[in-house]
Amino acid sequence: VKYLFEITNTDLLARKGIIHTAKGDIRTPCFVPVVHPEPSKNFIDVQTFQDKYLVDFIITSSYILRKRFENKITNLHDLTSFPGPIMTDSGAYQSLLYGEIELTPKNVIEFQEFIGSDFGVPLDIPISINDSYAEAKMKVEKTIERSRDISSLISNTNTKWVAPIQGGKFIDLVKKSAQELGHIEIFDMFAIGSVVEIMNNYMYDTLLEIILTAKQYLDPKKPVHLFGAGHPSIFPFIVAAGCDSFDSAAYALYAQENRYLTNTQTFLLDELDEFPCNCPICSTISPTEMKGLKKNERVKLLATHNLYVCQTEIMNIRRAISSGTLWNLLESRSRVHPNLRKGFNVLIKHSSLLLPNSSSTKKKGLFFVSDSDLEKPEVLLHKKRLSELKLNKRKKLIVLSILNKDITELYDLFTNLKNIMKSNDKLNRNYEFWILNDYFGIIPLEISDVYPLSQSVSVTTLPENQLMNIIHSTLDFITKLKFKEIIFLGELAEFLTILQNQSFFTFDKEKIKAYNFSVSQKNFDKIKFILNSVF
Ligand SMILES: [Zn+2]
Repeated sequence: VKYLFEITNTDLLARKGIIHTAKGDIRTPCFVPVVHPEPSKNFIDVQTFQDKYLVDFIITSSYILRKRFENKITNLHDLTSFPGPIMTDSGAYQSLLYGEIELTPKNVIEFQEFIGSDFGVPLDIPISINDSYAEAKMKVEKTIERSRDISSLISNTNTKWVAPIQGGKFIDLVKKSAQELGHIEIFDMFAIGSVVEIMNNYMYDTLLEIILTAKQYLDPKKPVHLFGAGHPSIFPFIVAAGCDSFDSAAYALYAQENRYLTNTQTFLLDELDEFPCNCPICSTISPTEMKGLKKNERVKLLATHNLYVCQTEIMNIRRAISSGTLWNLLESRSRVHPNLRKGFNVLIKHSSLLLPNSSSTKKKGLFFVSDSDLEKPEVLLHKKRLSELKLNKRKKLIVLSILNKDITELYDLFTNLKNIMKSNDKLNRNYEFWILNDYFGIIPLEISDVYPLSQSVSVTTLPENQLMNIIHSTLDFITKLKFKEIIFLGELAEFLTILQNQSFFTFDKEKIKAYNFSVSQKNFDKIKFILNSVF
């Protein structure tokens, strides 16, 4: 095995790939079911996890293992009947809750090695949502110190070690934690912790701030896990923010409360007259029949359906990464609940952080369906490139406004316009030619066939204020660049109003010419005539 983590596709900060382990491959992004170490306590037979539910990776509790099986078990894989890779936590969280077991940095490492954990965690100190800043800081520092010191405690090379990134709602502590542990060789993976209470309180905005912050300082070659991811509706968001795997016990916990998961919502069994799912469970039983079952049997079926839902959502997400459409998946999921929208707004706010992995592997067109698509990383990337281009090499400017027009219908026109410019030497020497589009703003004609400008499909009804923003910022831009003459062509209704009424546009109005008409390939001769009449 050459690389631990092989990345095949990226979209936003999401990474589709494979974590290679001695116990088998983990496809990422990966949903990691939380499993009880005692086989009889699980509602679904863990032995069937791989074949029936396509589960690659599970996590189980060190604390319970210690409590029930100390000195008795020797191998985690035999006990759980799961042949694939298994992660264990340090046991610190439950130990804090229930006490009883004395944990030391040394015995935590030794125990996880002893039971054959594939991915182990050093003794961390989880942070509670009620901790003061001082308490949280102390815990973070202690966790960093213990994590740094594990080399001397490790004896078995089969267990890979996961660096616990703590800090909770205190973003600067998350940053400190990630900065100090993010490039330590001994760790093969990172895991962001202390988010369960944050998630239980639906603080999805804080959750995404935490992940995005940590992500900036962690070695990009290594996978990032999230401890305790909860409901599948949040999965696409944490993946987009850069988590490669995450565990959740929701499939089983919700089932115990008669809760039926979908990828966006939760229903009580009583609310359903028909199952909105076609998994092997839902296609063979009705809600009424399920309600009539004994509790154990009912919980088992519900947990099984819930597990299918989690895995199906992961497959949706992996598909979206491959096709470069993760942003659209987030957009659609964010419409389901205000808390998800809050989470999405954090990604919008930090859209520039999502740039590095975007666009490089994309082949398909960009879809623009709403005004939040104005924040798409590809749009920001275009604007960043634009600011680096020398846009006024020439003294005069032609602006072809195609606001409210479907750009896909105009590619031929762009090609023809490029040919005119090329064939008319005087035009070409003197005039910059910009196309003005709803989503990308200014598109220099010369680069109009560059991805993704020429591969976008949009709904062309932006809200009036958004259109005005685009026009105003374009006019500001033009003013700054001090062109000597400007010719406006095309869809100019909004433009003309502004040009007539606004005094801020401190341009000699005699140097402005405006030709208001509907832009289409059919009008090419008209545009050609105007352009040629210029010279
Ligand atoms: Zn189902």
